[in-house]
Amino acid sequence: ENPVDQHARVVVIGAGQAGLSVGYHLRRLGLVPGSDLVLLDRAPSTGGAWQFRWEALRLGAAHRVHDLPGMRAMGLQFDDADRSRPARDVVGEYYRRFEQHYDLRVRRPVSVSSVSRLDDDTAAGALCVTTRSADGTETRIRADVVVNASGTWGTPFVPWYPGRGVFRGRQLDTTDYRSAAEFARQDVVVVGGGTSAIGFLLELDGVARSTHWFTRRPMVWADTASLDLESAVAAVDEQDRAARAGEVLPSIVSGTGVPVSRRIRAGIDRGVLRDQPMFTRMDETGVVTADGAHVHADAVLWATGFRADLRHLAPLHLRTAAGGVVVADGRSVDEPRLFLAGYGPQASTIGANRAGRLIARQVMDVLAAT
Ligand code: FAD
Repeated sequence: ENPVDQHARVVVIGAGQAGLSVGYHLRRLGLVPGSDLVLLDRAPSTGGAWQFRWEALRLGAAHRVHDLPGMRAMGLQFDDADRSRPARDVVGEYYRRFEQHYDLRVRRPVSVSSVSRLDDDTAAGALCVTTRSADGTETRIRADVVVNASGTWGTPFVPWYPGRGVFRGRQLDTTDYRSAAEFARQDVVVVGGGTSAIGFLLELDGVARSTHWFTRRPMVWADTASLDLESAVAAVDEQDRAARAGEVLPSIVSGTGVPVSRRIRAGIDRGVLRDQPMFTRMDETGVVTADGAHVHADAVLWATGFRADLRHLAPLHLRTAAGGVVVADGRSVDEPRLFLAGYGPQASTIGANRAGRLIARQVMDVLAAT
């Protein structure tokens, strides 16, 4: 029998916008960080996935980044942040100040390798979170409730196309991209219809020798200059429906269209942002377009989105045949001691904030009944 090493009432996995928002609300509702409430993050620093974003990405380049609850009370607002600095630095700093101010005591770098059910008599129904620290030490934490807020950055999604294994150039996904300079004087193929692909194309313009853009569906440009996620009701509703049905989640911009900022408008007008139907296959030196033309490529950049990073939840067997997890109001339907913050309709900074309040209240109800 494997004894547990530590006990906590609630373990939160991930300290991005969603995990911090839940942590903030749980603390306000009376849980003590460090003993009742344990926040874990495998990344080395503050900022959630933002700490890994490429250097050129600026705050607000895609959508608005909403303040964490309680940030304003500290006198911090993302709208006031210096937009000439990389978003990763700004968000990392803001989150660090937030964690310190609210004394959230995030443990990092600590990676959760699995979440399983403890079914011994002494701990009926509790969950067991197994972690691995940087030096390889494994720790088992018994938790009444687990809030998973692990985001998507760890699981970029790259679709399969014939010839992917034959292509001799470089293939990379959004999480591998560092800067346009790496592609100086190269022919670059960019795949994907989201804001990351658009950002890459604009950055590569004038640096790469050529860019070609392929999307599975023709681009739909929204009628606005910036996407107001609060009014993207239909797209968020569609994510909620998919989460409740246990389906793979669609992206937000697939439901809203991509807002046309001034920078994007200029890119469309210059011809940099001209999407072609997805290529049919890759060969050793490039891709073959839908009408049979060959496009030479030194690199193929797959900006084709992400999936929820739920690999550590595998022992709970929550995956449906449709490829998702059944989640309603931020809670797993099949494992009521598990909450999923930032999942589905909560997958934006505004959604993550709402998740914090919604989930914290339900967590307190579970604890009261335990
Ligand atoms: P993350 O920020 O990904 O945090 C998850 C945390 O969990 C990470 O710190 C990670 O280290 C940790 N973790 C994961 N697995 C484990 C594990 N097994 N053990 C321990 N820790 C783990 N949204 C907006 O609202 N506005 C924008 O402008 C915007 N721009 C974006 C740009 C890009 C390129 C991308 C990819 C997304 C963007 N988003 C934007 C969406 C944005 O990522 C989310 O809104 C939000 O920041 C996600 O927060 P999160 O807490 O769910 O996830």
